[in-house]
Amino acid sequence: MIAKDLENGVERLGEMIASASAIVPFTGAGISTECGIPDFRSPGGLWTRNRPIPYDEFVASPAARDESWRRRFEMEATFAAARPGRGHRALAALHRAGKVPGVVTQNIDNLHQASGIPADDVVELHGNTTYARCLGCDTRYDLLWARTRFETSGHAPACDLCARPVKTATISFGQPMPTEAMRRATELAQACDLFLVIGSSLVVWPAAGMPLLAKRAGARLVIVNREPTEQDDDADLVIRHDIGETLGPFVGN
Ligand code: NAD
Repeated sequence: MIAKDLENGVERLGEMIASASAIVPFTGAGISTECGIPDFRSPGGLWTRNRPIPYDEFVASPAARDESWRRRFEMEATFAAARPGRGHRALAALHRAGKVPGVVTQNIDNLHQASGIPADDVVELHGNTTYARCLGCDTRYDLLWARTRFETSGHAPACDLCARPVKTATISFGQPMPTEAMRRATELAQACDLFLVIGSSLVVWPAAGMPLLAKRAGARLVIVNREPTEQDDDADLVIRHDIGETLGPFVGN
């Protein structure tokens, strides 16, 4: 059912939150747009400006790796300046209240952790862009290391230990999903009684399978997104309004 207006949506969401004992938020790029990070598919989003570089292209092509890192550093000021928004803070408040066993996110921006939710309780399906890893031996690198290499050599960094390419710790199209994160997300989705989709177009699979998994396991499903999604018909409540305005009342003190 679609909330008839914002007030009605917030009221019904409040009732569902109050009666739930295990809430699993599932977040997408839309929760971070008010923090200044553009999403992929809204007008003017990243998708419209840059074709994503698939994983096999990154691995095979030095030019693709250079371009990928160039784009990452171009975005660095935006990522570095971003602070948790009302959506992140509302979820952190629900976590503090003991209602949220874990947040499942498609986001790579680290803002749930920055909002105070312990990293162990943030399940990142698409990784994290605030650090990097070697594709060969998995050594972790910070972005400053990568940037220094890039600026000194003019090329994408390679691992100090094994010389394989180093990539932001994100999951690109065509890259295998992280097994442990998928396992935990599945477990959380199947064990909750309220599954909250926030700011996702629900078109990126297999992540987009999580809401239906939760629904089939008996959870109530809420979708907060300003544009329609293909799963709206399966939801118990759809709120087609701004995320900050919708979740602002749940931020608390
Ligand atoms: P998406 O761009 O496909 O969809 C975002 C949705 O959020 C859109 O349907 C849009 O209408 C909605 N939205 C945007 N701002 C909103 C607001 N203020 N209030 C209400 N709705 C709003 O994003 P996705 O489904 O997360 O999939 C894109 C992929 O790219 C994911 O893997 C995602 O993590 C990644 N990505 C991440 C970031 C980030 O970490 N912040 C940014 C861009 C893309």
